[in-house]
Amino acid sequence: MLDINSPVYKDKNAARKHLEALRWADGRYCPHCGETQHTAFVRGRKHRPGLYYCNSCKKQFTVTVGTIFERSKVPLNKWVLAFHLMCSSKKGISAHQLHRTLGVTYKTAWFMAHRIRETMKDDNPGALGGGGKVVESDETYFKGGSKIRLKTLPNGDKAPVIVPHFYKIMALVERGGKSRAFHISAVTTNNVRDVLFTNVLRDSHLMTDEAGHYHTIGERYMTHQRVVHSRKEYVRGKVHTNTIEGYFSIFKRGMKGTYQHCGEQHLSRYLAEFDFRYNTRDLDDFTRSAQAIKASEGKRLTYRRTSQRTH
Ligand SMILES: [Zn+2]
Repeated sequence: MLDINSPVYKDKNAARKHLEALRWADGRYCPHCGETQHTAFVRGRKHRPGLYYCNSCKKQFTVTVGTIFERSKVPLNKWVLAFHLMCSSKKGISAHQLHRTLGVTYKTAWFMAHRIRETMKDDNPGALGGGGKVVESDETYFKGGSKIRLKTLPNGDKAPVIVPHFYKIMALVERGGKSRAFHISAVTTNNVRDVLFTNVLRDSHLMTDEAGHYHTIGERYMTHQRVVHSRKEYVRGKVHTNTIEGYFSIFKRGMKGTYQHCGEQHLSRYLAEFDFRYNTRDLDDFTRSAQAIKASEGKRLTYRRTSQRTH
């Protein structure tokens, strides 16, 4: 069991051995060809530690090949610490804080944080609900900066005005189960239906507020029950959307308190981060962190891809 004083956070060789133990928990294999039997440790002082040789494909490898750590100049112990900090802070940790704590540049810290979010993204999410489980669905708006619009003045001239820009987020939470949040372009019946039908099994009990876009969609589920917020109704027995509102509240506190400037093109990564922590809420911080590190395989991300719009 790790604790925060563990050498894996201070020493790059200890960190590498930690990664080896996580990645090769079922035995070492060559990341180039998948060979599991005929690989050997390369000895000798002139080689960097942690180097292996594959007798099948005749290539060398280390534990970082094919992971987000490959070709990174940041020492592995700083990576392991960054994972721990992001996995253990309920509301996330800013790139500024990572930069100060890890002693890397702000730009590097920002890049590391985005790569870690990428590992937190669930690539093969199963559907939520099913078997009569309860799924809550809701949307929220999050103020993500401002936009300049041209406003027509009474004399016909146009003048630029600054208007707030809101990101639209839809989230689903299975009660007692997982959450899944989406960045949507607009809160419309079509968008809401697409997200629901793709992600929630029909034999689920759907709980929403009274929003009109749920009326016809809800008929496709086992039951559809609504709380009427406009009548100040929030709970009617088991009918409520408190679980999802709790999810949104953690997300908003994190986004306001920690991540003050989130470009819309990065929003889906932040949502993945909050989903990951919510969905691993029963794990202790070290186990959650280990789970994220294990998922770093096959998630290599270049700077170019990080900077591009993904939505
Ligand atoms: Zn090989």
